[in-house]
Amino acid sequence: MTIVRVALPVAVDQPFDYWLPAGLAVHAGHVVRVRLGARRLAGVVLAVDDRSDVAAERMRSIDAVADVDPLPDDVLALCRFVASYYQAAIGLVHALAVPPLARGPARERTVAGAVGLTPAGCTALPALVARAPAARALFERLRDAGELDAGAIAALSPHARRTLRSWIAAGQATTASAARPVGAAQAGRNDAQRVASAAIDGARGGYVPFLLQGVTGSGKTEVYLDAAARAIAAGGQVLMLVPEIGLTPALEARVRAALPGVRVATLHSGLGDGARRRNFDAAACGDARLVLGTRLAVFTPLPDLALVVVDEEHDGSFKQQDGVRYHARDVAVWRAHARGVPIVLGSATPSLETFANARDGRYRRLVLAHRADPRARLPTIVLVPDRDARFADGIGPALRDALARGLARGEQGLVFINRRGFAPSLKCASCGWDAQCVRCSARLVLHRHPPGLACHHCGHRERVPPACPSCGNVDLLPQGFGTQRLERHLRALFPAARIARIDRDTTRAIGSFDAVRQRMHDRELDLLVGTQMLAKGHDFPRLTTVGVLGADNALYSADFRATERLCALLMQVAGRAGRAEHPGEVIVQTDFPDHPVYAALRAHDYDAFAARLLEERAAAGLPPVTHVALLTGEAHDRLDVERFLDAAHDAARQAAQDTGVTVYPPVPALMARRAGLERAQMLVQAARRAELSQMLPAWHAALRQLRGRKVRWAIDVDPAGF
Ligand SMILES: [Zn+2]
Ligand SMILES: [Zn+2]
Repeated sequence: MTIVRVALPVAVDQPFDYWLPAGLAVHAGHVVRVRLGARRLAGVVLAVDDRSDVAAERMRSIDAVADVDPLPDDVLALCRFVASYYQAAIGLVHALAVPPLARGPARERTVAGAVGLTPAGCTALPALVARAPAARALFERLRDAGELDAGAIAALSPHARRTLRSWIAAGQATTASAARPVGAAQAGRNDAQRVASAAIDGARGGYVPFLLQGVTGSGKTEVYLDAAARAIAAGGQVLMLVPEIGLTPALEARVRAALPGVRVATLHSGLGDGARRRNFDAAACGDARLVLGTRLAVFTPLPDLALVVVDEEHDGSFKQQDGVRYHARDVAVWRAHARGVPIVLGSATPSLETFANARDGRYRRLVLAHRADPRARLPTIVLVPDRDARFADGIGPALRDALARGLARGEQGLVFINRRGFAPSLKCASCGWDAQCVRCSARLVLHRHPPGLACHHCGHRERVPPACPSCGNVDLLPQGFGTQRLERHLRALFPAARIARIDRDTTRAIGSFDAVRQRMHDRELDLLVGTQMLAKGHDFPRLTTVGVLGADNALYSADFRATERLCALLMQVAGRAGRAEHPGEVIVQTDFPDHPVYAALRAHDYDAFAARLLEERAAAGLPPVTHVALLTGEAHDRLDVERFLDAAHDAARQAAQDTGVTVYPPVPALMARRAGLERAQMLVQAARRAELSQMLPAWHAALRQLRGRKVRWAIDVDPAGF
């Protein structure tokens, strides 16, 4: 009997054995359909064997082999690495690499005579089709597929062919055979950009990690695209990872415009299963030459992989926060190393991990010190007291005047605060009571649209009480400012201005963020108010005034990465101000103008700040100077969590013997209660990565033996914060 060892998407560390029915043939990497208990699951074949420890009569057979190409050896090796490095269940890791399995035939081959978009179409059409659903659907299909044949076009809608004819007439689409071949269009690059892309190109064929550090607006994307064009022209495929592609369709359009004739495949959670499967297949069979995707795309099979790019490598969204807690940037580095190809990590504000690697010579550093547009200068940063603003509905006199001046010149403004809702708390003026979530150790946020109190951690909502529940006083006061309150105040200050708000409450509907971005770009808006969604890579040439509110809050955070993140965020936000010939001004309201984070911002000197932070981390024994893993536990009963973590602490000390790993005692989590669960955590720390890798498997094995059934726990290697 042939036994097949299958990794299934369940939180179990072992694969499951099935027997192979006659007539089916599989090998490692095949995706198979099986039953587990009452469930039907798809899993990945890890090995084929002729014997099993499972009794034959208890073993089930494979139901079917899925219609998807087997995962290649290098992706299987990548999964093994991720499972071992992050102490994650083998089946959950492999599930990350399996594409959506379609019921019917999933593959759609393109034929000669197909139609594709031209660079001009990629640039112009998104705005033109924004309000025409049928044309927009056609555009998105063409964009995702690269090209479509006559049959596929006719099947889309009765008017699709007519629309397409008008696009061809306007030069926005073309028969694909006429698409131009790849050539690196390097016109308009400055010396620093040319030096950087030549260095990356020169590393082709071997593993070389690069840090591409460039100030906002310095043209990092052009460097990626030039390097990608050369790698593709030489027969390679390029993997480009970006944070939250849903927020950056502009980047996608630029990639397509810069690489005419190249099939680009996008992979992110915003795509439907069908599109994701088509794009996965295109990458895996080598048709797509560039894959643009979010963290999950790091597992995509790429037979001709020649270059990896991680844009905004410092961004927190590359780290998965549940399930398999991998960091896509670090996995990408491992993959580039295993495949022997260069990798480019790009950022204006590199993570301290990457910064330290570059400083110590493990990564090659490429610097873009100036903005790409020679007319553009970095914005002036002005620090003004925040306390003046508290009596003026959040916006102090300096920011108010700067916005007014900009509006009078016909320029645009942006006000940034990292808090959505109306006010971050509701307080009784008489007894000091404030509205707390019943399920979390957190304050409830006051909202006006729709009205009510909301918990931003567990989603709990309740009505605003008519009087203080503690003393009966009816004078309940909103404390502090959120985006809704600022929007209301801006409307009162500038009644003639056209104002829009961007936060998670206003952008739930797909495409609504794009629509606002487009209106801002078309100068149909004067002022934007919003959260950090505004921080990332949007260029508005008429945006000159940026206000930053509430940044001081991060200085109170207990999380060791809070100031690193604040600095990155502030530099990103400030980078929105002043492009092209219009100089920018950034007004930051702070009561701590001497704090190093603001000094760095004002001097546009991230390096000095990062070097100083690294010294602090070294003194405190924190990452990246040390290597840590965090064990988190949560349960309804605090006693259950404490017992579990005490036992875990004993087990850690045992596992750490003779390894050089330091074991810290359990402490309450930063948020000690969330969604009704009591939470605690403990840390293990090592000076060398190898020491931690030696200790973790033994500790993990011991944890699995603990009777902690009521406790939900997880090991987080290289945690985002604690
Ligand atoms: Zn009260
Ligand atoms: Zn809550």
